[in-house]
Amino acid sequence: MPEQRTVTETALAVKRTQTLSIVMANQLATVAAQTTLDIEGLVAMMKASGMADAAIYETLVADLTAGGRLFGTFRNQVKNTVRGGIKMAATRGLSGQYEKAGIKEFVWITAGKPCPDCDSRAGEKGTMDHFQNIGLPGSGFSVCQANCMCVLEHIGYTGATTMPR
Ligand SMILES: [Zn+2]
Repeated sequence: MPEQRTVTETALAVKRTQTLSIVMANQLATVAAQTTLDIEGLVAMMKASGMADAAIYETLVADLTAGGRLFGTFRNQVKNTVRGGIKMAATRGLSGQYEKAGIKEFVWITAGKPCPDCDSRAGEKGTMDHFQNIGLPGSGFSVCQANCMCVLEHIGYTGATTMPR
């Protein structure tokens, strides 16, 4: 049987994807702008302290090669933005599947070594509305931010609510 989706559902899904890509683009632009400022700041400082251009160049190249303070931070921030975006898209896709299957309640599962915010939520049950209100896993409500590895399982799940990983 062909999948039946209303125009509104499809439009909403498209809009969510667009919003996500806008958020990711903004985050990446912010990361790039911050890195530019950091490089300019560092170069100005090195120049002011009398460092020769060749030595400044060497310092920047060393930072780039070793993934130091400037470029290491840049790399991590890009990685976190992309990882967070993919995770958010996956969560949305999954919640759409759950909705189609008529699953209305969920249980919070922590994974790895959860942060204090997430730790207190292990085993918490509620509707998607409830979790959207208090903050979905990795949505930024918690100390662990984008590093969050928690998931929402359907209410029929009977396994452990803390996964040692
Ligand atoms: Zn978490």
